[in-house]
Amino acid sequence: MQKILFYSTNRKAPEVDLINALFTGQAPDRGLYMPKTIPMLSQEEIAALADKTYAQVAAVVLGKYTLNSLSPDTLLKLCEEAYDYPVPLEHVQAKTYLMRLDQGPTASFKDFAARMMARLFGTFLKKEKRQLVILTATSGDTGSAIANAFYAIPNIKVMVLFPPSEVSNRQRKQMTTLGKNVTIVGIDGKFDDCQALVKKAFTDNTLKEIWLTSANSINMGRLLPQTVYYFYAYSQLGKDNEPVYFSIPSGNFGNMMGALLAKRMGLPIERLIIVTNANNEVPVYFKTRSYQKIVPSRVCISNAMNVGHPSNFARVIDLYGGWMDETGTIHQQPDIEHMRRDMWTISIDDKETRETIRSAWGKYRLMLEPHGATGWAGLQHFIRETKTDGLMVSVETAHPAKFPEEIEQLLSITPPVPKSMIRLEEMKESYLQLPIDYQRFHHLLLEKYRR
Ligand SMILES: *Cc1c(COP(=O)(O)O)cnc(C)c1O
Repeated sequence: MQKILFYSTNRKAPEVDLINALFTGQAPDRGLYMPKTIPMLSQEEIAALADKTYAQVAAVVLGKYTLNSLSPDTLLKLCEEAYDYPVPLEHVQAKTYLMRLDQGPTASFKDFAARMMARLFGTFLKKEKRQLVILTATSGDTGSAIANAFYAIPNIKVMVLFPPSEVSNRQRKQMTTLGKNVTIVGIDGKFDDCQALVKKAFTDNTLKEIWLTSANSINMGRLLPQTVYYFYAYSQLGKDNEPVYFSIPSGNFGNMMGALLAKRMGLPIERLIIVTNANNEVPVYFKTRSYQKIVPSRVCISNAMNVGHPSNFARVIDLYGGWMDETGTIHQQPDIEHMRRDMWTISIDDKETRETIRSAWGKYRLMLEPHGATGWAGLQHFIRETKTDGLMVSVETAHPAKFPEEIEQLLSITPPVPKSMIRLEEMKESYLQLPIDYQRFHHLLLEKYRR
């Protein structure tokens, strides 16, 4: 089998293999990596997924990309370690389901990508015999998903900077109770101050002997695992190549990009329903072919979707033959008619998001949180407005217990707290504290990671 190479959407950087794409993250020309050939699963291979566990499905799908870099046994072992939690597919009505991607350790779908990426990094590093330091700043969710995913992975150290005054108790505890290879640093400032310290470290030549990377959301290692749950849902619900529709609450468009790849890999996805909150730059683009970033992004209750310029949209444009650069400028228009056939887009505001949480509970006893509620609302619009029926799966991206105030106010009930969150309450916290002082941060990095 042929090795899959990755090119940059800006086309000014050399093609690289999977391992290089993982460790560089963004291409040197500031483009995003894309697979040059998209591997396919045959109809028989897809049918054969029917009796498999999530980890087994992941090993088959990801195996198409790791042929030359990992043995099938190693890959399966990594998948079994990463996916040791359930992926419920809740039947709601007729042929409509809700896929809950909220059962991982930090209760959002980001666990699926972060946990696999961490294990791929760890495995490829064993051969490199070098220590990698993941350095990241967080305002809450990303830091905890990354810290949890890379916890106890050999050859990798993690440092997360966070502003103690801006994160919730639960978010802080998801990071500060880990220990081992994870160092958490509270910065006496705002998220932007944390971000500025991290950015400065990445461009600091005096830190060259430390191998730093950010493991951010555009990394191939996060995108590929996000194709898997679409195959898994189909393996549980679909048969005989029947068409399926997925509704995806979207912010940076990584999740939906995973679905588009799954479609190109042969999954019979008839159409994707792409749902944004009030940050509607992409639905507007689909209507008008004119792309305008939203700056600053609009604040909505589905806060992980408050993105005014989704970084993965350049990949979508590329997949349909266009070119968008890293600033959001479109130099070549994609085949918009083809995009419209494959995707149906809609923006859902906070008012409708709240109404949807209430009505889904009232009608079906279906508990949604703000992100998943936008997806569910978008799906109802799609069904009504296009008079489509068939196998439909709406994606729930976070656990309702992450938004207890909103849910209590709307439904007058307290969402049940998952086990991973209950355990946090009794665990011991530890983190360092620093003022906004680059010299001291620099000193800490050298002291901890210089070898
Ligand atoms: C990150 C996130 C999203 C948005 O996903 P993208 O891949 O950025 O589109 C939606 N819901 C939740 C809960 C998230 O954490």
